[in-house]
Amino acid sequence: MYRKSIETLSPYIPGFQPAMDGTVIKINSNENPYPPSPKVKELLGGFDFRQLRYYPDATSQPLRELIGAQHGLSSKQVLCGNGSDEVISLIFKVFFEEGDTIATPYPTYTFYKSVADIINVGVAFVDTAEDFAIDLQGLVNTGAKGIFIANPNAQTGRLLPLQRIEELLNNYSGLVVIDEAYIDFAGQESSACHLLGTYSNLIVLRTFSKSYSLCGIRVGFCLADESLIQAMDKCRDSYNVNHLSQVIAAAAFRDREYLEATVKRVVDTRDMLADELRNLGFTVYPSEANFLLCQPHGRSASDIYDYLKAQQIYVRHFDSPRLSDKLRIAIGTEQEVEILLRHLREYAGSDPI
Ligand SMILES: *Cc1c(COP(=O)(O)O)cnc(C)c1O
Repeated sequence: MYRKSIETLSPYIPGFQPAMDGTVIKINSNENPYPPSPKVKELLGGFDFRQLRYYPDATSQPLRELIGAQHGLSSKQVLCGNGSDEVISLIFKVFFEEGDTIATPYPTYTFYKSVADIINVGVAFVDTAEDFAIDLQGLVNTGAKGIFIANPNAQTGRLLPLQRIEELLNNYSGLVVIDEAYIDFAGQESSACHLLGTYSNLIVLRTFSKSYSLCGIRVGFCLADESLIQAMDKCRDSYNVNHLSQVIAAAAFRDREYLEATVKRVVDTRDMLADELRNLGFTVYPSEANFLLCQPHGRSASDIYDYLKAQQIYVRHFDSPRLSDKLRIAIGTEQEVEILLRHLREYAGSDPI
């Protein structure tokens, strides 16, 4: 009854979603610790529920215009999706078919492989260096039809400088997808958006989930050459972004001041937490995202995970090569980070962790 690829499929595993009461600290899914822009609250407070009887704008046109204008692009170079995950699925549907291969670094965002597996597209994982630096030549050498790079990279937080992405594009004519889910925490100057006018084989992915603190509304988008967007637009579901999500995203997107202020708070807390974790004895990998990957030396990562979980603090532990001895910790509020550190100090006692 099922397609062959479905029987052996291992689905994408999201971070655990605990019931959120007041004492739980959830820093396992790279969510933003701050609420979305107050403009969203204002919008929802005055929202006329009767509008919901209409279908939403089919192409998310007003939102695409806003996004395009911010990036100096036309709305025809923007496509919105039900989260950037939907846009990733759409990219596979439009640009790859059974038997094709895409290349991506290891480790990275696991959802690329989850989607590729469904349609029997192969995934060539190219190991990152000891310090998780991405091997661009290795990716090109796979001969894959497309290259997916999360930048900053998922799980590691490491940023690939824009200049290196440009070198890749000069060397490779297949499709290059740069997934910038975390780029606001790294700074716009590192964004591959600057290369969109020059390279027509480039897709830049963005999301409202992380920096805009809107995981719950599921809005992501991509920026690319008009011809690529046109092809994707033909294949997307009609009304793929619902009305509430479109207007909430637009309200949050317009509030640049709030975005900058909350991003700065997260970045400051991240840098403070990195120092404190190092003081405790962790190796902390340099991160330009809203999370830190860190490795204990005296204790096992999974024991620390279990200990924190018992204190209602949820961090992320991946049971996979090169990550199973590490923890990924999303940046919480200053207060949440203080509580996390207090528990870690208690757990460590007088030994380095
Ligand atoms: C969180 C994340 C996404 C998913 O974003 P949504 O818009 O919530 O679907 C995509 N890529 C990476 C690298 C992520 O970390």
